[in-house]
Amino acid sequence: MTTRVPWDSDSYLALARRACFICELLAGNPDYPHHVAYRDGTAIVFASKFPSVAGHFLVAPVDHREHAIADFTPVAAR
Ligand SMILES: [Zn+2]
Repeated sequence: MTTRVPWDSDSYLALARRACFICELLAGNPDYPHHVAYRDGTAIVFASKFPSVAGHFLVAPVDHREHAIADFTPVAAR
């Protein structure tokens, strides 16, 4: 179950500038709670705290990445 949280831009910016929210979620920091739907050694899938549509989930690697494009390499289709 996902609880919709009212948008608070000041709180969001403070959290975003303090640390990587995905790494903090993975570490179990209670300041970064999310509903986790799936996690393995490669990736994590979790519900957005600020969903733009119902069922908005995010998929991220468990290894920290800074750049959404530059820090990934192409993987050949299996
Ligand atoms: Zn990170």
